[in-house]
Amino acid sequence: MCLQTLFVHKALFCCSLYRLTLIVSVPYQYIVELINRANRLDRGACVLCDDGGDLICCDGGCQRSFHPTEEHGEDSMCATLGMPEEQWQKHVAQGDAALYTCKNCQYKQHQCFACGLLGSSDLASGPEVFQCKHQKCGHFYHPNCVAKLLNPDSKTRAVLHVQHIAGGLEFECPVHQCKSCKEAENKDYKEMQFAVCRRCPTAYHRKCLPSDISFEESEETGNPRRAWEKILHKQILIYCMKHEIQPDLGTPMRDHIFFPDGRNPVASKRARGTPQEHDILEKDEQLDRPSSSKPSQSPQPAEIGHHRVKPIDSFAPKHLFLRPQPGSCGWLDE
Ligand SMILES: [Zn+2]
Ligand SMILES: [Zn+2]
Ligand SMILES: [Zn+2]
Ligand SMILES: [Zn+2]
Ligand SMILES: [Zn+2]
Ligand SMILES: [Zn+2]
Repeated sequence: MCLQTLFVHKALFCCSLYRLTLIVSVPYQYIVELINRANRLDRGACVLCDDGGDLICCDGGCQRSFHPTEEHGEDSMCATLGMPEEQWQKHVAQGDAALYTCKNCQYKQHQCFACGLLGSSDLASGPEVFQCKHQKCGHFYHPNCVAKLLNPDSKTRAVLHVQHIAGGLEFECPVHQCKSCKEAENKDYKEMQFAVCRRCPTAYHRKCLPSDISFEESEETGNPRRAWEKILHKQILIYCMKHEIQPDLGTPMRDHIFFPDGRNPVASKRARGTPQEHDILEKDEQLDRPSSSKPSQSPQPAEIGHHRVKPIDSFAPKHLFLRPQPGSCGWLDE
């Protein structure tokens, strides 16, 4: 083999090695990115502000995610959990072993997704709210509230259903049926994917989505934007027509989440404000707390629910935050 041929062969060999390196390294990075992306997708959106980003997920069964520290909530004007940075870093460092339980799951006091009131979900001591049986649904309901929604045409059936649910019969909440065509979701077909309201049990197929629930603000009619892609995994995030959009937030009022008072979950059901540091319990401290509480008072209809404490109106002056709408973190496309 002449010197020139040898050189060419060597060059080709180096070139192939380089290509091999590329083949090995690029897919690896790509796979890692895909895994990270899937993990982030699974976390959905923060239940407080409905935006994505770095979220902490509750392992207590409610399946909700939250922006943990104030810094994480800056872009979306989120109240966040107010978790100290140090505690968040500790949580991150624990990797898959890290556990977080929200105050609702900790004290077994959950809000009914229909009327918004807090009630005991403690099956051991007379629960007032019951969780939907759907595997990926974390919503709780008063039997009365969900039975009415599931049996809109028959009061008799609704009354019977209330008794069954209160007696422990499993139920699937209205979030799993299109409000328009009554069919189920199919995430594998784009048109059959769901658009899910973040504030009430209302869902539509993409193909059934009313035109009022638009992906863009209309200059003509002044209708605000109500739908967002790419925040939830194979779903559209919407606010249905029942909720008034606040122009400064780009979302409805953020007065929808209530945590039980950690110091006295039975007696006091204060509105969720920015939790104080003492609200964020260390894991050891959480384990010392009683895991159940006495059932709280009977559910009240939303209109006369005197337990519904005054909500907070806003979290920060608008001029401090320029992109408060859901999706403004842009974390999927970045
Ligand atoms: Zn948030
Ligand atoms: Zn929880
Ligand atoms: Zn209710
Ligand atoms: Zn459900
Ligand atoms: Zn439909
Ligand atoms: Zn709604």
